[in-house]
Amino acid sequence: MSQPVFRFAPSPNGPLHLGHAYSALLNHDLARQVGGRFLLRIEDIDRERCRPRFERAILDDLEWLGLEWEEPVRRQSGHLDDYREALDRLVEAELVYPAFLSRGDVRAVIAEEEARGADWPRDPDGAPLYPTIERELPEDERRARIEAGAPFAWRLDIDAAMERVSGKLDWQEQGSGPQGETGLISADPRVWGDFIVARKDVPTSYQLSVVVDDAIQDVTHVVRGRDLFHATSGQRLLQELLGLSPPVYLHHDLILGEDGRKLSKSRGDTGLEALRTAGLTPNDIRRMVGL
Ligand code: GLU
Repeated sequence: MSQPVFRFAPSPNGPLHLGHAYSALLNHDLARQVGGRFLLRIEDIDRERCRPRFERAILDDLEWLGLEWEEPVRRQSGHLDDYREALDRLVEAELVYPAFLSRGDVRAVIAEEEARGADWPRDPDGAPLYPTIERELPEDERRARIEAGAPFAWRLDIDAAMERVSGKLDWQEQGSGPQGETGLISADPRVWGDFIVARKDVPTSYQLSVVVDDAIQDVTHVVRGRDLFHATSGQRLLQELLGLSPPVYLHHDLILGEDGRKLSKSRGDTGLEALRTAGLTPNDIRRMVGL
């Protein structure tokens, strides 16, 4: 059997907090326990929110925690061609379509439907599903809009995509989901509707790049927070459509703040750097997250 491969994949859009420390340490420890490899991947496709200074701070924090990872570190922004190639395959397979609606347009479509009394469906994160009205846009209309410079994303036609799935779409869960789901989990990608495969500003999305990278990097174990449990359904579908073999997944507990809420980078919750400056040691951090 090939060597197990684990990865910690932070987005450099803020400082690391205790929840990230837990995830990174858990990946690292599990890799060590089974004689596996530990990779660090920087998920920096969001040019508006990612900053080099956050990436430097992440590397400093992880080093301070005592983690060792393989070099070179994969930075998603340096591999856009890999994602573009995967996207092209989905375009050729006619599984994605150009999506031009702005946020305001989406809100208007939903408001109109809801005014008629229909409850608009929401995804597991609570966001309204994208309207499917552009699936059937005539080809010449699409071309005209693109030639006129209209910004567009690529979205998966979830109905077309599900039709391509032969057999069961599931994954091996070694941790647990929000309702305690564990073992063999049946993926349910429809909960995400026509989800985004490439954003308006880059030829990829979180879902596409994570799937492409996990495959390119031979990742065998995806260990991450339970907040991404449902995202796995979309990832399993993309793996199936692109012919990529799935890793096993372990979704772990989230470290909550004192108020019981999920820690958040944007609120600057319990930043590792602050804890370090306050004199805590890496062992204190391990104890705080229960490792
Ligand atoms: N980059 C994602 C995050 O920081 C994690 C991706 C993953 O582990 O699949 O939330």
